[in-house]
Amino acid sequence: MNSAIVERRASHQVRVGSVLLGGAAPIVVQSMTNTDTADVRATATQVAQLARAGSELVRVTVNTPEAAQALPQIRDALLKQGVNVPLVGDFHYNGHRLLKEFPACAEALDKYRINPGNVGQGKKRDEQFSTLIEFACKYAKPVRIGVNWGSLDPDLAAQLMDENAKRAKPLEAIEVTREALIVSALQSAARAEELGLGADRIVISCKVSGVQDLIAVYRALAQRCKYALHLGLTEAGMGSKGIVSSTAALAVLLQEGIGDTIRISLTPEPGGDRSKEVVVAQEILQTMGLRSFTPMVIACPGCGRTTSSYFQELAQQIERYLRAQMPIWRERYPGVETMNVAVMGCVVNGPGESKQANIGISLPGTGESPAAPVFVDGHKTVTLRGEHIARDFQALVEDYVRRKYGAPREATAPALR
Ligand code: SF4
Repeated sequence: MNSAIVERRASHQVRVGSVLLGGAAPIVVQSMTNTDTADVRATATQVAQLARAGSELVRVTVNTPEAAQALPQIRDALLKQGVNVPLVGDFHYNGHRLLKEFPACAEALDKYRINPGNVGQGKKRDEQFSTLIEFACKYAKPVRIGVNWGSLDPDLAAQLMDENAKRAKPLEAIEVTREALIVSALQSAARAEELGLGADRIVISCKVSGVQDLIAVYRALAQRCKYALHLGLTEAGMGSKGIVSSTAALAVLLQEGIGDTIRISLTPEPGGDRSKEVVVAQEILQTMGLRSFTPMVIACPGCGRTTSSYFQELAQQIERYLRAQMPIWRERYPGVETMNVAVMGCVVNGPGESKQANIGISLPGTGESPAAPVFVDGHKTVTLRGEHIARDFQALVEDYVRRKYGAPREATAPALR
């Protein structure tokens, strides 16, 4: 495991339900549902899926009276399933009314997300923002002040543009917009503190959809405040584009010690698995050596030296198997999440990479004798042959986990799929 030496930026620590973020706490992974919150069953099911995938906070839209009314029932449904993940309510436009009219919703949530650009216009904006913060104080809840590029306070943006136009050397419009995002977040946080919300109850975010914009905005935020920071590239997009752009932006900032909690805003494929955003967030943190969540499979890409797809299938099966074990293994085998398993396609890099892993297998490439040496902690221990290499290798992995990370009590490993 390539543990990172990253000096984290000093920030206030915030408690959200049972989870700590900021300060010396590990970087927290969060996600958001895309169900109609008023649909208690669908929302509770998706929150549970996200939590089981590893989401440590889950945000839900609270946009209507029906959604606000559903919150306590969602909380109850989750507790019945043994899921105690903190819930964050996402409020726009009418949050001040919903929190007033539905005190059980205000109570059931563990954090409120407020977008200063969407709390109202002019005088109403200040009043409604104050009301939201007063509810946070009343119910002792933390708040994320979440500014977004797409809903930036228009009055503030116009004011900064006017001031810029009067400068001897005006800045580029993009720089003014970035500054407006930061000012919106910091002024709102300062106002929240004036209203009695402690700095240890405030998280801020300034989400944009451009990689370079995000990096520039968060570098400035990190210098100008000590609030815990939520990182995420908004509207990252679908598939590989969403994953790559989020990773490119977040990796730079995380490497500089910036960011206390992250979300990867992927657009799922129609009918796709919402948990993917959780897996991607975990993989960013784990591949950077910042946190460990699940054993990692190291697999070669394959080339003309192995025309069979056998090793690709084995790598995929092992990865699926390891992830499926984690709900049990996490409790039973502390440290197993740092394990590396290598599945390699031929003799060129197979033995070398397998020796670097905790346990690795070098499958035979084209023209090699049909034998697959297995390496454990850097030493060749056995050579597998025949039709059951996959099954035999999984048994060796299980045996390794038991020996290395603790004594088993009631192992119930699902079969390799
Ligand atoms: S380990 Fe072998 S099969 Fe895999 S990429 Fe390298 S040369 Fe190709």
